[in-house]
Amino acid sequence: MTIDPHEQAVLDAVPKDEWRPAASGKSFAVDDPATGEPLCEVADGDATDAIAALDSAVNAQESWAARPPRERGEILRRTYELLTERANDLALLMTLEMGKPVDDSRGEIGYAAEFFRWFSEEAPRIDGRYTIDPAGHGRLLILRQAVGPCLLITPWNFPTAMGTRKIGPAVAAGCTMVIKPAALTPLSMLALAQILTEAGLPPGVLNIVTTTSAGATTGPVIQDARLRKLSFTGSTEVGRQLISAAAPNVLRVSMELGGNAPFLVFEDADLDAAVDGAVLAKMRNIGEACTAANRFHVHESVGDEFAARLAERLGGLRVGRGTEPGVQVGPLVEAKAREKVTELVDDARERGAKPLVGGEPLGGAGYFYAPTVLGDVPSDARVLREEIFGPVAPITTFMTDDEAIRDANNTSYGLVSYAYTRDLDRAFRVIEGIESGMVGLNRGLVSNPAGPFGGVKQSGFGREGGHEGINEYLEVKYVAMEVGG
Ligand code: NAP
Repeated sequence: MTIDPHEQAVLDAVPKDEWRPAASGKSFAVDDPATGEPLCEVADGDATDAIAALDSAVNAQESWAARPPRERGEILRRTYELLTERANDLALLMTLEMGKPVDDSRGEIGYAAEFFRWFSEEAPRIDGRYTIDPAGHGRLLILRQAVGPCLLITPWNFPTAMGTRKIGPAVAAGCTMVIKPAALTPLSMLALAQILTEAGLPPGVLNIVTTTSAGATTGPVIQDARLRKLSFTGSTEVGRQLISAAAPNVLRVSMELGGNAPFLVFEDADLDAAVDGAVLAKMRNIGEACTAANRFHVHESVGDEFAARLAERLGGLRVGRGTEPGVQVGPLVEAKAREKVTELVDDARERGAKPLVGGEPLGGAGYFYAPTVLGDVPSDARVLREEIFGPVAPITTFMTDDEAIRDANNTSYGLVSYAYTRDLDRAFRVIEGIESGMVGLNRGLVSNPAGPFGGVKQSGFGREGGHEGINEYLEVKYVAMEVGG
């Protein structure tokens, strides 16, 4: 077995069921995707635990919302500092349960912590408005208040950052919460909760339920009228079910869902920069990112050169267990994920696509898949329409700008798009014509706590980060006053 004493110490330090064992007394194993072997057990909660967590959030709500905004912000700031101090151990923990190379995990801890720094600064700036009635009689006062207890459901691909993007603004706004992390990666969230407690977050404000029965456990919470908000990050398929489950109580919802990001390379692009950006947009998080470039649309005149250079770069990446020094590509998170990637590549090959590098799962323990570039991908290949969530770059070509934009928009998703061009007019045509919540112009990374992250179409609604992020956790109250004039 590959667990060394330091890894074991990092695993042992995570509070697993110390806060409260599961009502059923059950637990489940968290596995290392690099070996398929179990790392440890955590409590397997059910609806009884989830309702107890909601009780606790509801009880804490009033006093938490009444705490001065500056105090709420300072708790976030202290957490940011503790996360930064402990980044190495937290990164190792993340790599153990999720698989990504430890440098990527360290990057995620930095990104995750920045949401706390950002929202620590937003907490004291929750303002309102005061205006004179346009007719002159009366005054209008507009307040913004905490929405109330929230349910936050997060995915496995960014086990910490997808939590801090929600927890940061919820804490800043004065909301309490129940969190349901992904069953594949609960450890990072448990470690984060411990740090928030250490930083002074009062009991009851944040409550975590780990479980293997997501729907049955969260369902009764969603149906409970005391819950005021559901924020979900995950697949469009589950998002759809949750929107419908939220309808009876007209629950406020935010949905950060799947993507199918196009990466456009125009004939005037700086090809060196485009290849660098493509490697980042494709390979960050082993391709297991909602923002991952899912398909490459390249101008015909540079298509072959771009494909050859990308294949050379991806073929040169070192694949292995994420904890090993120098590893750049870890395993996929589970066997099912690797099967899906294999299926999509096989489908594209059957339809005529040609692998320029990779194209197959790697043997041995763990769920590794070779970094892959596919050329000549026909437009009916599933790999262009479905979220790949793996290290596979399918390439197609276009002739005109209109065709590029049309191809880019030919999807039900609309999270992020990337475009490489040095022509300012063209850049603006693309930015304005593309149907996505975010655009990376001449860069392969858009994630930034200061920017409003989110999608359009079936990639969801609501924004995380930026000045917009806190609005998801605030209600607007308008007071009409018969004064003045
Ligand atoms: P998922 O299967 O939709 O799961 C996401 C979360 O929802 C997990 O905690 C999961 O629990 C839970 N869940 C599953 N079924 C549920 C149900 N019926 N009721 C309540 N909760 C339920 O997605 P995933 O595979 O973890 O994550 C990958 C997806 O997330 C991709 O589509 C990706 O694009 C998307 N994503 C989007 C963003 C964004 O910001 N737009 C960011 C990251 C990821 P279990 O773990 O127990 O199944």
